[in-house]
Amino acid sequence: MLIDIMNVLVTGGSGLVGNALQNISNNHKLYKFIFLSSSDCDLENYEETMALFKRIKPEFVIHLAANVGGLYKNLISQSSMLEKNLLINSNVLKCAHELKVRKCISCLSTCIFPDKISYSSYPIDETSLHDGPPHESNYGYAYAKRILDVQSKAYRDQYNDNFICVIPTNIYGKNDNFNLENAHVIPALIHQCYLAKKNKKPFIVKGSGRPLRQFIYSIDLAKLILWTLEEYNGNANIALSVGPEEEKTIENIARIIAKCFDYEFELIFDTSFSDGQYKKTCSNKKLMENIETFDFTSINIGIKETINWFIENYKICRK
Ligand code: NAP
Ligand code: GDP
Repeated sequence: MLIDIMNVLVTGGSGLVGNALQNISNNHKLYKFIFLSSSDCDLENYEETMALFKRIKPEFVIHLAANVGGLYKNLISQSSMLEKNLLINSNVLKCAHELKVRKCISCLSTCIFPDKISYSSYPIDETSLHDGPPHESNYGYAYAKRILDVQSKAYRDQYNDNFICVIPTNIYGKNDNFNLENAHVIPALIHQCYLAKKNKKPFIVKGSGRPLRQFIYSIDLAKLILWTLEEYNGNANIALSVGPEEEKTIENIARIIAKCFDYEFELIFDTSFSDGQYKKTCSNKKLMENIETFDFTSINIGIKETINWFIENYKICRK
């Protein structure tokens, strides 16, 4: 029997999550995945984006592309994080609408959740996204992402487009950006500890080490995004996250990394650096009710695999 293979366009296909999706989606029976990088098309440019959509004619879109970075990149680039992400998201959604894409899944983040909410409201869930301003440290990125949610809903409401968003927590894994200044905490600390061990220098962790975060391994997230494409038929956002009980302090994470490197000296917490948002604990109740069961990679194994990859690919990785 002949089966129609459908095109799935993945924006941001060369990034951390895009690479993980490439890893798990090889030879899919139903879909042909097309992974984009910025060298295929500048998604900030509407004409280029439309030309690409017309050429590929995607039935489905997984929209991962974004201007992304850790706390210290966000702090110094509010305007570009806001402007670039607004442009990218608006262009992708408009083209997906014009080309009558059957389902468009876009990526938000738990770091756009409100900052000051009452402690009894934790864990936060999908319904609380707009219940107060985001943390000052990343308001540019956060408001652009919140508009991505608003725009997806507006297309749903006005045109019945099947546009939804997933909300991952802090992601880490192979092919991440390991830049010391711009990266998220796990890749930045992996790189810091690697250099500390190699040069017999102190392993410096920025901030107090006390903030709490949930972390998802990129391969787990890729599997959950594929599940969202194939199985999730809800018309509202869904958080893709480990449970609140998996929350870790930054100090916990630094110590796991130090142990993996056999780094035997003291850690130094440099409190001249901002801590960012203290916590943004997210519920994964909706996910678990819909998927029933999912085997999350333990953080110790995920970090170990990421470190091995980083060491093997030190010369060529993003850093
Ligand atoms: P990433 O590794 O930084 O990759 C970003 C991707 O976007 C790359 O493929 C990049 O292409 C592409 N891109 C950036 N600007 C572009 C442009 N103007 N035109 C075309 N492509 C462009 O990001 P990630 O960590 O995989 O993040 C994927 C998604 O998850 C994003 O939407 C992000 O906001 C969200 N998210 C990330 C985290 C996290 O901890 N990393 C947490 C929650 C949510 P090039 O490779 O060519 O530069
Ligand atoms: P966030 O989850 O959006 O805040 O982003 P990050 O992944 O950047 O995590 C920020 C938290 O990790 C803050 O509490 C930082 O103080 C702490 N942290 C410690 N060292 C580093 C580092 O080298 N880079 C980053 N990005 N964060 C660090």
